[in-house]
Amino acid sequence: MPKWQIVGQTRVVSLLQHSLEQGSLAHAYLFIGPPHVGKMTLALNLAKALNCEAAEPPCGECASCQKIALGKHADVQIIGVTQDVNSAEARPRVEIGIDQIREMQHSASLPPFEGRHKVFIINGAELLSSEAANCLLKTLEEPEGRVIFILLVTNDRLLPATVVSRCQRLELPPLAIADIESALNSDWGVEPPKAKLLSRLCHGCLGWALSAAADDGLLQQRRERLDRLLDIINADYEERFAYATQLAAQFSQNRGLVLEVLDLWQEWWRDLLLVKVDLSEAITNIDMSTTIVDWARGYRLAQIKNFINSIQAAGKQLRLNANPRLVLEVLMLNMPRKEGRRENSVTALNYG
Ligand SMILES: [Zn+2]
Repeated sequence: MPKWQIVGQTRVVSLLQHSLEQGSLAHAYLFIGPPHVGKMTLALNLAKALNCEAAEPPCGECASCQKIALGKHADVQIIGVTQDVNSAEARPRVEIGIDQIREMQHSASLPPFEGRHKVFIINGAELLSSEAANCLLKTLEEPEGRVIFILLVTNDRLLPATVVSRCQRLELPPLAIADIESALNSDWGVEPPKAKLLSRLCHGCLGWALSAAADDGLLQQRRERLDRLLDIINADYEERFAYATQLAAQFSQNRGLVLEVLDLWQEWWRDLLLVKVDLSEAITNIDMSTTIVDWARGYRLAQIKNFINSIQAAGKQLRLNANPRLVLEVLMLNMPRKEGRRENSVTALNYG
């Protein structure tokens, strides 16, 4: 049996497997999916399948498969984004330049060195400069027999339509929570409570969950951001505006970080909404469920809904390059205060 070492993505895998068996693979593929959903893993699996020495490729065990897994196979090259994309640190957007593509083309013109096929994986293909994309297009228009290109992108609309049209498009959807939870637990030995939490926090992207399982920093950062949010909800306008200014300054350095914070906020308020409508079992931040249930009591449903809309609007405006400070200040103004239910809890305590 071929062993594709990837969680889920059964539709795409069976399509590729079928093409392999029929000898009808395309010369260029475009794998589209959110960050960390498994695009690189799938690309490496395809590279293994193309060069595997076993009867039913990919086996994952032969010398060729192992070399590819270790990044040491002479015929499998990755260009583009190579740094740890899961890192929480600021990361500059680096263009993929024409020189890298020319080098790749030269290498593609030589026969495979140790395997049957040359495989070029272009990670973050949306970062191709327009020169580089044009240069690549020529190669895609005149395919060579034993060369396969795999372009990995989060959004194919960021690529020239001419490039997209030369590739077979395969979409990798986010994975189901249950699939991630069981894979984390049984394949990676993540203890059940953590697997449960990460499977919810990762939004269907196993790669993120694996990074967070290996590096506590990501969970810690999330916790700090949520704590900050709770502080800000309780704070006066002066403090809220100071925070807006701080976020706006961060935005000019690294917009991704600020958008991540907004996503986290949205998730928090969405959890409050879920509790409000009796769907507590569907919340994302399960490690904070007690706090969420408590906070949900302090709001009316309409307040929560309105603020979720405000967060979405702010994210949209920031992506459209509106003035970040203005956008964030408006958001701070719209953030509803938790209604005082202190008397109630005191009563509850007295009767408890
Ligand atoms: Zn193999």
